[in-house]
Amino acid sequence: MRVIHTIGEMRAASRAAKARGARLGLVPTMGALHEGHLSLVRAARARSDVVAATIFVNPTQFGPSEDFSKYPRNLQNDSALLEREGVELIFAPAVEEMYPAGAITWVTVEGMSDRLCGASRPGHFRGVTTVVAKLFNIAEPDVAFFGQKDAAQVAIIRRMVRDLNMPVQIEVCPIVREPDGLAMSSRNSYLNAGERTAALTLFRSLTRAEELFKSGEKDSAKLIAVGTKEFDSEPAVRLDYFEIVDPDSLQPVLAVERPALAAVAAYLGKTRLIDNILLAP
Ligand code: AMP
Repeated sequence: MRVIHTIGEMRAASRAAKARGARLGLVPTMGALHEGHLSLVRAARARSDVVAATIFVNPTQFGPSEDFSKYPRNLQNDSALLEREGVELIFAPAVEEMYPAGAITWVTVEGMSDRLCGASRPGHFRGVTTVVAKLFNIAEPDVAFFGQKDAAQVAIIRRMVRDLNMPVQIEVCPIVREPDGLAMSSRNSYLNAGERTAALTLFRSLTRAEELFKSGEKDSAKLIAVGTKEFDSEPAVRLDYFEIVDPDSLQPVLAVERPALAAVAAYLGKTRLIDNILLAP
């Protein structure tokens, strides 16, 4: 396994792999790896010949008052985990390598980047699409792996790839959860014991909406109401949004006649968590 820090070396390594006829799979991450990330790596192992993981805490997807500086960073531990999973290449560039002074070009998926998390985190998805486009240009993967955990990110990246004719296949892997249902996240490490318990409200709200949906209710307003109600009895959790949207366009749907995404975001103290579930008729 090689840990690479420069764009030139990463491009050379991926081109060398592809010149040998290997199918290159890319797993973009911000590090602080957990089983959710490793599930993407395993999918990449199964569906490509050479796996490259990227570890880059991308400053452009964080707002000015967000957790960029305190985001957990542990390249040594992450590298050991990735080596055990059979990853060949780790790309872990410095911020200055990815964003040299004077860079002024952005990739924005208009009309989608301001939906869901994009509404409360202005500029977040612009940062995501810009860095993912850069990683695609640098590594030139045949296939890239993303988690359903970030369902809006998946929809926006798919749209970017389609609109910009990027020659990469996008694969999406299911959400990996803790035994009690909490979606795994690098940010779960911020939670104290009380917040960890209260954090289950997100998954519970989605489960309640899903139960009502399975009992025959299709009206989004009613499904949202039952999900939102879970937060009334949890003063430690501040709901950001609970929405039901089309999984491709991210536009709200009034009734769930086709598969729809129930998506939730909430704050526990300063920690912002997200989760979602697919409602499929
Ligand atoms: P991050 O390091 O948070 O930027 O996540 C990197 C990738 O891992 C993204 O594609 C995420 O959607 C995915 N991911 C994060 N958490 C999970 C999870 N619990 N289950 C599945 N995929 C995840």
